[in-house]
Amino acid sequence: MVLPPANTTDLSIAADAARLVDSWVALAYLVAGVLFILALRGLSSPATSRRGNRFGMAGMLIAVVTTLITHEIASLPEILGAIAVGGAIGFVIARRIAMTAMPQLVAAFHSLVGLAAVLVAVAAFLNPLAFGILGLDGNILAVSRVEMALGAAIGAITFSGSVIAFAKLNGNMSGAPILLPARHVINLGTLVAILGLTAAYALAAQAGPGQGLAFWIIVALAFVIGFLLIIPIGGADMPVVVSMLNSYSGWAAAAMGFTLHNSAMIITGALVGSSGAILSYIMCRAMNRSFISVIAGGFGAEAAAGSGEAREQRPYKQGSADDAAFMLKQAESVIIIPGYGMAVAQAQHALREMGDLLKHEGVSVKYAIHPVAGRMPGHMNVLLAEANVPYDDVFELEDINSEFAQADVAFIIGANDVVNPAAKTDRSSPIYGMPVFDVDKAKTVMFIKRSMGGVGYAGVDNDVFYMDQTMMLLADAKKMVEEINKALAD
Ligand code: NDP
Repeated sequence: MVLPPANTTDLSIAADAARLVDSWVALAYLVAGVLFILALRGLSSPATSRRGNRFGMAGMLIAVVTTLITHEIASLPEILGAIAVGGAIGFVIARRIAMTAMPQLVAAFHSLVGLAAVLVAVAAFLNPLAFGILGLDGNILAVSRVEMALGAAIGAITFSGSVIAFAKLNGNMSGAPILLPARHVINLGTLVAILGLTAAYALAAQAGPGQGLAFWIIVALAFVIGFLLIIPIGGADMPVVVSMLNSYSGWAAAAMGFTLHNSAMIITGALVGSSGAILSYIMCRAMNRSFISVIAGGFGAEAAAGSGEAREQRPYKQGSADDAAFMLKQAESVIIIPGYGMAVAQAQHALREMGDLLKHEGVSVKYAIHPVAGRMPGHMNVLLAEANVPYDDVFELEDINSEFAQADVAFIIGANDVVNPAAKTDRSSPIYGMPVFDVDKAKTVMFIKRSMGGVGYAGVDNDVFYMDQTMMLLADAKKMVEEINKALAD
């Protein structure tokens, strides 16, 4: 048991000790912050991503251990109990989740960050003394009121927005945009109201523990605005929404850091918030969209409307695995374009094997990855890396697009929207403006998909299916590639 200091000398020793601990804590958080920045740097390239991950894990370990040993937020058994329960749930989810369900899982996790931010703000609102934010006049400090109100607002927007994104991506709700009349006016008005109420709460004369209707109205409005912001977004813009919500969850965590006076959380939250915002911007540029128009929503309405329409039957050429193997063997250069269907079929290992067999025959093999291929940022990169496809064989859209004109074969496996020329030519198409691979310029196009009926995420037909030089390989991607491999090996 620690005895209270008996005299002024003891008091000054205690103050010195506290200052020393604070300095060590600040230093540990700084080291964690630097490690997080190194982690982001490492994650920017597949070749260094493992090292980046290790930096991130080390930083998180330092931050968590420092917080646990220096702060008395809760008793150790409570914290360990919570970690055990959360860890067990996370473990089971991670074991069970299909790779194709990753985007909705990410959205679900973002919603939890948002909810946590709201709960921290509510806890501080009800018990400011425990958070050290109660002023001598019995009111919560004005600056803390602003932090709490904004933290709760960002958290609530993140929560309800992520729940809607989850429902859309998981198919519990139609992916089609839901367009309310005057939605821009409603959204803008609600945001202005949240800011106005934050100012009113900060300036209120009576703001003791649990006092302030404005705080609760802010939380309620923010829940509604999160919902309203995401329902009009649909079609091909969902990837940007996922990365935008990632950014929001970072800002929500930073806001929690202010309320909890935890600098590590502020640093981490700001890093997640800004990197998510930069990623959203990069994705918007890759899809030729303005960030504002995606946030404002409504894009993709035509896609959703079009997807239900019966499509005219047009003639196409169907090939077999043997035909494909024969032509691939004759080729000098093959560019492989993987898409969502490769992830569904888990065909990446068979595909790598096919690449190796072709290289063995002296064929130049390259993999082309579109920034929004699949269903989450980096989806294809992760799968190809898992199958040990060499990083040097993998190319981004802008680096390889000019090579299709010289390629003998464009081998499309489970991709559709990212190779649809309508994005370049058809102004009425929901994907119009998105840069796509110029596969139509290749001498031969091979297209693996399961049936002519299936359409991609944006729900639109693809003229490449019906081109003279296109051979449709209609089967599950993994099965088809395995058969091609068998034919190549014979
Ligand atoms: P698409 O969704 O356009 O096309 C997928 C294709 O895969 C379809 O043609 C489908 O046809 C085929 N397919 C599905 N399952 C299989 C299987 N088992 N074997 C073989 N083929 C299969 O995918 P893309 O990657 O080209 O485009 C991604 C789209 O998703 C873009 O519109 C993008 O905006 C959107 N999106 C991207 C996100 C991201 O972060 N990357 C997140 C959310 C959406 P069939 O059914 O006939 O087999």
